[in-house]
Amino acid sequence: MLIEKGTIVTESTSFQGDILISGGKIKEIGEKIEKTSSTTKVIDAGGCFVFPGAVDVHVHMELPVGPGLCSSDDFESGSRAALAGGTTTIIDFVTPLRGQPLPEALAQRKEQARKSLCDYGLHMSITSWNKHTASEMKNCVEKEGITSFKVYMAYKDTIGLEDRELIPVMDTAAKLGALVAVHCENGDVIKYLQEKFLSQGKTSPRFHPLSRPAAVEREAVLRALTLSAAAGCALYIVHVSTEGALAEIAAARLAGQKVLAETCPHYLLLEKKEYLRPDSAAAAYVMSPPLRPKGHGAALWQALRDDVLQVAATDHCPFNRKQASHPDFSKIPNGVAGVENRLALLYTYGVLQDKISLNRFVEITASAPAKIFGLYPRKGALQPGSDADILIWDPAYEGVISAETHLHNCDTNIFEGFPIKGKPRLIIRRGKIAYEKDSVMLKKGAGLYIPRGAPGLYP
Ligand SMILES: [Zn+2]
Repeated sequence: MLIEKGTIVTESTSFQGDILISGGKIKEIGEKIEKTSSTTKVIDAGGCFVFPGAVDVHVHMELPVGPGLCSSDDFESGSRAALAGGTTTIIDFVTPLRGQPLPEALAQRKEQARKSLCDYGLHMSITSWNKHTASEMKNCVEKEGITSFKVYMAYKDTIGLEDRELIPVMDTAAKLGALVAVHCENGDVIKYLQEKFLSQGKTSPRFHPLSRPAAVEREAVLRALTLSAAAGCALYIVHVSTEGALAEIAAARLAGQKVLAETCPHYLLLEKKEYLRPDSAAAAYVMSPPLRPKGHGAALWQALRDDVLQVAATDHCPFNRKQASHPDFSKIPNGVAGVENRLALLYTYGVLQDKISLNRFVEITASAPAKIFGLYPRKGALQPGSDADILIWDPAYEGVISAETHLHNCDTNIFEGFPIKGKPRLIIRRGKIAYEKDSVMLKKGAGLYIPRGAPGLYP
């Protein structure tokens, strides 16, 4: 297969050129590649950008969050939406019950993930620490290609860890050369504020952000940096939402600490005022960390430009209106949809508004996440030998985001009514047409589990 006449864009260059694909891999890339007798298909990418298939390293498909309650996209519907938006690889999470052996939780999660249309990897969450955890973590790295572990500093009643439990996780990860991804919010302060508001009868979703103020993120980020520096482990801070957290991360990077960080489109583009909607509508915006007051978004864009942040992922974790409707804000399941909209939003509101360059757009959506999580150059790259995961992007498209038309299995979209420019015209995944003429062509289960190598891209 030959893709010709497109503008090829990577994290470091842009040029008019052609890509030859053979055996599911990129065989050759250059300014002009002649077709030969063995070229079976020629794709004209004239007028389009040619990007590496995007990588979303933070998604939660079919995540159980309570009795009978699960995020509304399963691996099939969620990965179909991801593909329609230009993402060809996702990394989801294994979330063991406390005390559950990691291999057992992993086997269950792999069974669920087999439905994925996207290629996929898994992070292993550590939700408790016992005498088996270190050896089970070693097994993850050495046998399963799981080179990143997720820990939560909030949600201490269910999956969150105390500092004394975070330390052995970080120490073990350091010895294994693995990365620790951390949700940074002070869980004790949040719990105190939630209980205080509820005891005062303040139960509506507008108290959700007030129970998780910016300071609880900054404090937890600094603590995670302090703990990981002591343990000598590499840190990845998920969904950074505040200017204060950025200041801590920037200082640590300047001091040479191995820390990388991500934000999400909703923190870049939405603000706290969404919670002032009527309760039933405001509930759709309940995510953690919450949306922030005006000003933080601009700081996050600046941090993406300055390489304080390296990744824009989605934290895709949708809930339908009915699932999100609860009279007590602290019981509304946390999470929003976004996996399908990430590229269009970052392209429209980032690239086209001169907040990030086209090369940086490719870097934060594809190549940097692939490098950080040990997928590069198999994924996130346009190079000979890389998987032929190729996104042909039509910059002329104009549309509007709506829950009516998105593929997320969710009846709300927090970006409802947002005009967007640009969308995938054609996507190739491991050499096969994955998306064409507004339709996802891959079938349920077409994705492959991708074991990952050593994490990278440290400062
Ligand atoms: Zn998450």
